[in-house]
Amino acid sequence: MFAVIDKSLILQSSAKTLQDAGIERPWRELRHLVADECCCRYEDVMFFDVQISDQQLNNIRNKVNRRANHEPLSKILGKVNFWKHVFCTTKDTLDPRPEGELFVETVLEYYKDQNQPITFLDLGTGTGCLLLSCLSEYCNAIGVGVDICEKALLVARQNATNLGIAKRVSFYKEVWNNNIHGVFDVILCNPPYIKNTEKLPKEVLWDPAIALFGGDDGLRAYQEIFPMLRKNIHENSKILIEIGVGQQNDVCKIATTEHFQLTKTVYDLQNIPRVLVFRLSTVV
Ligand code: GLN
Repeated sequence: MFAVIDKSLILQSSAKTLQDAGIERPWRELRHLVADECCCRYEDVMFFDVQISDQQLNNIRNKVNRRANHEPLSKILGKVNFWKHVFCTTKDTLDPRPEGELFVETVLEYYKDQNQPITFLDLGTGTGCLLLSCLSEYCNAIGVGVDICEKALLVARQNATNLGIAKRVSFYKEVWNNNIHGVFDVILCNPPYIKNTEKLPKEVLWDPAIALFGGDDGLRAYQEIFPMLRKNIHENSKILIEIGVGQQNDVCKIATTEHFQLTKTVYDLQNIPRVLVFRLSTVV
């Protein structure tokens, strides 16, 4: 099935609108917007001849204007591909990022048997992308996701339903693991770690500030979380936590003070330490 669009109607002017706004790869973005509006695949959007309703054209123009205002494609479409699934995202949730997939890869390396009944706790779950992707890999695993933002939890619950795993996950509105009982094999956490003063690309500012900023030094969340973890872990629990550029030493110091030891550093595609794995320290 092809969505066939008249160049003269939207292409030229829409692509130019995006280009003038400084959007890189305007044609690619336009194609995504058209595919979404016409309910067809990106690959099937052909840019010639006319086959599009006035309403669709209008909707595309509106979305182009939003994109020209630097709203990310993910927020306009309300969805992001992450790991093997499509996740809903809104203005109340941090968009899933490619680095987040390192969590799933790392868990898969640690736990080879995918029938194991692993228990997961995800602190600051947002869309739930980390937790739900892990649960989707382990058919007998269960998980708890926590977020301070009620509206984010609605999105996470919707994603759990979309992935068909709502029965294996519970979501709670809490400050980190406050009032969370039980011990978990794996703790996942991608906390807000950007320094309050850091200047960010315009697109990033569409993510909720509470999910991005971690105080003046970016370390506030780590300082809050590590002292609280003890009650929810056993001696073999793994704590997987994402860090910002250059934060490895500072985060390790915080963790060590709370008697955790670093067991693995996972690097992202740019070779930057991105996810740290800790366990309870064996040194007494
Ligand atoms: N856990 C979610 C993610 O990694 C949200 C993280 C956050 O809001 N800081 O995408």
